[in-house]
Amino acid sequence: MGINAPRGTQDFYGAYMDAVLELEATMRNLCDDFGYNEIRTPMFERLELFQRGVGETTDIVQKEMYTFTDKSRQAREFALKPEGTAGVVRAYLERKMYAETQPMKLYYLTPAFRYEKPQAGRFRQFHQFGIELFGAKGPEADAEVIGLGYQMLKRLGIKKVVLHLNSLGDLDSRKKYNELLVNFLKSKEEYLCDTCKERMVKNPLRVLDCKVESCQAVMTDAPLMLDNLSEEDKIHFEGVKTLLDEMEIPYEVNPWIVRGLDYYTRTVFEFISNDIGAQGTVCGGGRYDGLIGEMGGQPTPGVGFGAGIERLLLTVANSKGEFKEKQKIDLYIGYIGDTAKIKVMGIVNRMRTEGIRTVTDLIGKSVKNQMKYANKINAKYSFIVGDNELETGEVVIKDMETGERDTILVTAVSEYISSKK
Ligand code: ATP
Ligand code: MG
Repeated sequence: MGINAPRGTQDFYGAYMDAVLELEATMRNLCDDFGYNEIRTPMFERLELFQRGVGETTDIVQKEMYTFTDKSRQAREFALKPEGTAGVVRAYLERKMYAETQPMKLYYLTPAFRYEKPQAGRFRQFHQFGIELFGAKGPEADAEVIGLGYQMLKRLGIKKVVLHLNSLGDLDSRKKYNELLVNFLKSKEEYLCDTCKERMVKNPLRVLDCKVESCQAVMTDAPLMLDNLSEEDKIHFEGVKTLLDEMEIPYEVNPWIVRGLDYYTRTVFEFISNDIGAQGTVCGGGRYDGLIGEMGGQPTPGVGFGAGIERLLLTVANSKGEFKEKQKIDLYIGYIGDTAKIKVMGIVNRMRTEGIRTVTDLIGKSVKNQMKYANKINAKYSFIVGDNELETGEVVIKDMETGERDTILVTAVSEYISSKK
């Protein structure tokens, strides 16, 4: 028996690959328009980076990471990156980007790895697009980041998505609120699911977004962070909302959005699709003013988001239908006979040099099958070279879509195609 791909992984090819490439190009153009530069960090990092950067109490660190030691005698532990932010923060500090002009605006497109139960929209290797904005503490930064997320969905043609917005307060107000929340949870402990009984001790905030119905019922009466913001937190949150209104970005305040990661402060948000079932969060992020300090840097504000590419594509497919392979070939050149076969290799080579995307037969197909192939690969034009064409230097070029034909010199083909592009 052959060897299968690891569970929860995918091979990208054909029409889906085209869709991924198009989506990535959309992201890159979008980031250019907003003044964000790409950063690529390693696929694996020291395990401690994620323990500190993602947070010890998160599901990611506790259950989901792919960890390993390499062949070094030092027995260091590494992990495949489970998300994009920690590596970017490490690079920001290690490469002293904080000493450059601020704010620093970065984006990434990266694979990420989590040991989870595979299902629709949930993989063990998936891909993330994300942005990070360092060194800007005002609500303008939050609004810009959310604005980029909103534009992203717009450019992808994704419509049925709602922006859910919340504030978790700064680290001080959250500490106070945590006490209130834990007291409440203790009084309701008997109604909580087993995971939430654990969360109550380790990461009480997460109980708020537990998906178990009985927990949700209990939490409708829970004290909310939004009602316990400090004066400054409130001003910041109001600021963000005013700017979103000004930018004509609709949102719903949702006090139950807490995000999975420990490092968020103040603004948190999720773009949630009603269209792709339970795995509805296509993009989530927020402010994390405590993170860079936590990772050993000078306290530096940060705000950003991460979006799952596979989930974005699921949403795109749902609103636009099946993915189609792109038109990639301008010209198919067929041949009849051995002399023509050799000459055609020369013509094809010249066409390609001139930027005409050209294909010919490589396996000795009959003329009929050559033309079938030209159709199959969706070539825009075609012509066939036989003895006659070799003698006159003229070919009959056919528009494969309309069936229209023109007789032209073979030396004029590239100009002919370019002029019609
Ligand atoms: P979920 O609640 O669905 O597990 P999460 O809170 O773990 O999501 P984040 O850590 O915020 O997700 O990751 C950012 C984005 O990456 C998510 O919004 C989602 O689109 C995507 N994502 C997360 N885990 C997976 C996965 N296993 N497979 C595919 N996409 C994923
Ligand atoms: Mg998760």
